Amino acid sequence: MTAAPHSEDDNPLRGPPELLGEFGEFGGRYVAETLMPAVEELAREWPKAWADYAFVDEYRAILRDYVGRPTPLTEARRLPAAIGGGRIFLKREDLNHTGAHKINNCIGQVLLARRLGKTRIIAETGAGQHGVATATACAYFGMPCTVYMGAEDVSRQALNVVRMRLLGAEVRPVTSGSATLKDAINAALRDWVASVADTHYVIGSVMGPDPYPLMVRELQRVIGDEARAQILDRIGRLPDAAVACVGGGSNAMGLFAAFVPDKEVRLFGVEATGEGLQGRHAATMAKGRIGVFHGMRSLVLQTDDGQLLEAHSISAGLDYPGIGPEHAHLHATGRARYLGISDREALAATELLARTEGIIPALETAHAIAALPQVIAELGPEAVVIVNVSGRGDKDMHTVMTHLDPATLALIAEAERERKAARAAHHGATGSHPGEEALIVDGHELRADGKEGA
Ligand SMILES: *Cc1c(COP(=O)(O)O)cnc(C)c1O
Repeated sequence: MTAAPHSEDDNPLRGPPELLGEFGEFGGRYVAETLMPAVEELAREWPKAWADYAFVDEYRAILRDYVGRPTPLTEARRLPAAIGGGRIFLKREDLNHTGAHKINNCIGQVLLARRLGKTRIIAETGAGQHGVATATACAYFGMPCTVYMGAEDVSRQALNVVRMRLLGAEVRPVTSGSATLKDAINAALRDWVASVADTHYVIGSVMGPDPYPLMVRELQRVIGDEARAQILDRIGRLPDAAVACVGGGSNAMGLFAAFVPDKEVRLFGVEATGEGLQGRHAATMAKGRIGVFHGMRSLVLQTDDGQLLEAHSISAGLDYPGIGPEHAHLHATGRARYLGISDREALAATELLARTEGIIPALETAHAIAALPQVIAELGPEAVVIVNVSGRGDKDMHTVMTHLDPATLALIAEAERERKAARAAHHGATGSHPGEEALIVDGHELRADGKEGA
C-alpha cells in the first residue's frame, strides 16, 4: 500500500492549501460555539496523527488484516464490448469487509478517537450503511456506539437496524422534522454539543465542518493510492480517466486524491438524477446552490428561500442533498466533471455489470458504471479508465427485485404459487394449520415461533 504521509512531500503539515482543508470558497467550520473546541482539537490533532508513523502503521495493518486490503484492480473482460470500447479497470472496494469503502474511514476515525482519549462514538446514518460501518469499527475497538437514524429510515432500512444492533450499537430513531437524514444529522450534532468532552462524532463522507472533509478524504485515499500503483504496475502508465459515483463524495475523493496532481488524468464524478431533473433527484452539482449545511459551506439542494430540499435516488447512498466542499471546488475550477445518471439507467447498469463481469454492484456504484459509455465516447475507444466499484449489491436486492422485468416477476410469482399449492397439500396430509405463515429456506420450513418444520 502506498499512502500519504510517509514522505516529506506529502506530509499534510506542509502540503498545499487544499491539504489544509481550504477548498476555494467552499468548506469552513459552521458549528455551534460549544462545538468549536472539539472541531479545533480535531483540526490540531488529526494532522499530527496522520504524520505519526505509529498511527498510520496501525491504521494500515488493520486495513490489511481486518478489512482485506489491498483490494484488487480487476480489468473488465466483456464490459468494454457493451459500452463502446475502452480498457476498463474496476477498483474492487466491494471486496472490503462489510462490502463497501465506508469501513476505511470508520476504522481511521475510531482509531483517532481512541488516540484522543475519547470513550464513546456517535454517528448519523441515512440508509444505515455508514451506521453499520461505524458499528463495525466500534465493535472492533470495543467502543460504545450510538447511531442516530431518522424514524422514516429505521422502518425503510430495517435490515441495517438489525445489523447495527447485532454489532452492539444503540440505534436512536429521530422523529423530528421529516424523520430522515437531515434530522438525524441535527440530532447527532445536538448529542455532540452535550457530550463533546468524551465523545467523537464519526462523519461518513467528505462532509461537515473542517477538518472532516480533509480527514475523510485522507482516510479514503488508500483507494486511489492503491489504484495508481496497480495501474502503473499493470500497463506502465496512468489512466486517461478515473470515474466514481458521488453521494457526499468520499469514494470519489478517495480515488481522485491520487490523481488530482496528474493533469492528464480526467476525473469524472457521477451524481444521481433520480427520476429526472424535473422530478425528484439528488443532483447537487446540476441543481444545488451555495449554502451552509451540516457545518460546511458547499452546494446544497434548497428552495429559493433557503429551505433544505429532500434528495431522492434509488440508491440510498446517493440520496443526500449536499456534496463535499472539495468536489464543489473541483467542479468550480473545472478539474473534475460531474455527470448525471437516473434511477432507470443505474438499474440497467447493475444488470449489465452482473452479466458481463459476474459482479453485482451496489446501486450507487451502478451510477458510475452507467456513465462509462459517455466517458468512452468522449475519450475514444482506446481510453484506459479506472472506475471505482464502491460497494457490492447484496444490500440492494430488495430494491432491484421490485424493479425487475415482468418476465422475472412472473417466474417468481409462479414459483410462489407452486410452493403454496405444495404446502396446502402437505398440510392437508399432516393436519397442521394451513393459514400459518412459514418461510421455506433451503428446503426447511421456518416458522414464526422459531421452530423448524419438516
Ligand atoms: C455510501 C455509499 C456511497 C456514497 O457515499 P460517498 O461518500 O459519495 O462515497 C457510494 N457507494 C456505496 C457502495 C456506498 O455505500
